[in-house]
Amino acid sequence: MGLLDDKVALVTGGSRGIGRAIAVALADAGAHVMIVYRRAAEEAECVADEIKKKGRSSVAFQGDVAVYIEAKDIVDKVVVQYNRLDILVNNAGITKDGLLMRMTEEDWDGVINTNLKSVFNVTKAAIRPMMTQRSGKIINITSVSGIIGNAGQANYAASKAGMIGFTKSLAKELGSRNIQVNAVAPGFVETDMTAKLTDEQRQKLAEIIPLRRTAKPEEIAGVVRFLASSDADYITGQVICVDGGMVM
Ligand code: NAP
Repeated sequence: MGLLDDKVALVTGGSRGIGRAIAVALADAGAHVMIVYRRAAEEAECVADEIKKKGRSSVAFQGDVAVYIEAKDIVDKVVVQYNRLDILVNNAGITKDGLLMRMTEEDWDGVINTNLKSVFNVTKAAIRPMMTQRSGKIINITSVSGIIGNAGQANYAASKAGMIGFTKSLAKELGSRNIQVNAVAPGFVETDMTAKLTDEQRQKLAEIIPLRRTAKPEEIAGVVRFLASSDADYITGQVICVDGGMVM
């Protein structure tokens, strides 16, 4: 018996990095896991195949979660197929870093729309079945940047701080329907997103992390799996930092 046996989960940005690790962890615990990707079709199909090999069902949906109708369409397809949705993980995200002096309107809009508006787009469609079921878990992947800020990431930090406000507001709106809404704030995780950092930047980061190392995607996924399970039924509106102690 798994912690999430036969639960139906949707993970945005499940083709790579943290989202991929979350999708696999939820499937390991027994859930059927649908993923959304934007461009990495081959990687997304690999994740879906990996989940199916575990005896769970999985579909990789191509779509841009920043576009309302595309996000709604994907959620609707999952609900038509399974007649329910138990777990939503809003994980899809991008960075377009730069000092504000040099940041273009396109850099701002791209990050805000992909990281924050997408959360509105997907969640709005997902809460309807959850409210009918009178149960559901929504987990938003924010960032420590949204809590402490980061020079060169005004757009990204604003999007992630926005996710935290969204999480707390929705937790208050949906608590009476037995829907828990929480956020996970990773620190520095080894994925494609952070691969572009220089050795010098990594060295500086390691110095400010009490545990003196970066995280593996699986270390974020384990916390998400816990929040998605009934072990976390009395936790809502929280932001759990998984950051080696950076924020305390
Ligand atoms: P990643 O390796 O770059 O993967 C990003 C994922 O998001 C990919 O699956 C990508 O799809 C998907 N995606 C991006 N834009 C999308 C869109 N418009 N529509 C649908 N899917 C989209 O990133 P990651 O490092 O795993 O980060 C995952 C989340 O954790 C992000 O929200 C990020 O902000 C957050 N986070 C990461 C770190 C870190 O250190 N890595 C730290 C704190 C927070 P494709 O594969 O198709 O491109």
